[in-house]
Order: sequence, then structure tokens, then C-alpha cells
Amino acid sequence: MPYNQTFMMIKPIAFRNNHAGPILHMITEAGFRLKAMKITRLTAKQACDFYAVHSDKYFYEELTSFMSSGPIVAAILEKENAVADFRKLIGATDPAKAEEGTIRKLYAESMSHNAVHGSDSDENALIESDFFFSKMERF
Ligand code: ATP
Ligand code: MG
Repeated sequence: MPYNQTFMMIKPIAFRNNHAGPILHMITEAGFRLKAMKITRLTAKQACDFYAVHSDKYFYEELTSFMSSGPIVAAILEKENAVADFRKLIGATDPAKAEEGTIRKLYAESMSHNAVHGSDSDENALIESDFFFSKMERF
């Protein structure tokens, strides 16, 4: 059976600007079902662990300090072809390159303040979901 879930976060800037509501509306309108969701805040260490794959990049320090700078929304979403379809819905990492109508086109401010995170593979969706949610928190 193909894996049909992805993991997403509404990043600190979008949460602070009160964009969580409209972003979640776009997600459910696009056919994703919420399987788990919470408001939480990453410690600096947790942000470093979550983005460990980028630890050799020049933007790692900026990325991890930003991601631990305030509350986020974390969620597991379900839909057929969830990972690819969610990446399409959020648009390119750089909002200047994001397509019209995508979440990042509408709500991202810059490359680092790009509103949302979406898993890039089924394998990472599983790892990232387990990072945030226990079995009891999934429905
Ligand atoms: P995300 O993993 O957050 O969904 P992504 O998969 O589109 O985004 P990645 O390449 O995984 O992009 O980069 C992770 C995050 O690191 C990006 O969302 C962005 O905030 C930041 N980032 C990536 N490249 C740059 C860059 N060149 N300058 C500044 N920040 C960057
Ligand atoms: Mg990524």
C-alpha cells in the first residue's frame, strides 16, 4: 500500500502573523485530512536535530534559530499522493519562484521566512511525524 501521509509545519513568522487559519483552510480545501495537529515551540536543540540534514549549509544557523524563535503549528496530513501534492500546494522554497495560488506565494516573505514546511519524501514524512507525534496523538 502506498504511504499516503505527509508532515507539515506552519513556521514561526506565519503563526505570528496569524496566518495559521487561512493556511489550514487552503490545506483542507485541497483535500488533505488532518490526522494530528498541535501548536508547539522547538528548542534550539530540537530545531538543529530536525534540520540536521542541512547542518553543513551556510544557512543552517539562521534556519534553526528562526525555527526556534516562536510557536509553530505541526501537523500530519493524509491524502493520496500526499508528499508530492503538498509540495505542489506550498510552492517553491524561494517565494519569488513560487507559483500563483500556492501557500508560499501568498504567505511567504523570503527564502528563510517561507511560511510552511512540507516533507520531501515518504521516508522523511515518517521520520518527521515521529519527531513530533506519539501514537496517542494521531487520529
Ligand atoms: P522545507 O524543508 O522547510 O519544507 P524546502 O524543502 O522547500 O523547505 P530545503 O532545501 O529543505 O527547502 O530547505 C529547508 C529550509 O531552509 C527552507 O525552507 C528555507 O527556509 C531554508 N533555506 C533553504 N535554502 C536557503 C537559502 N539559500 N537561504 C536561506 N534559507 C534557505
Ligand atoms: Mg526540505
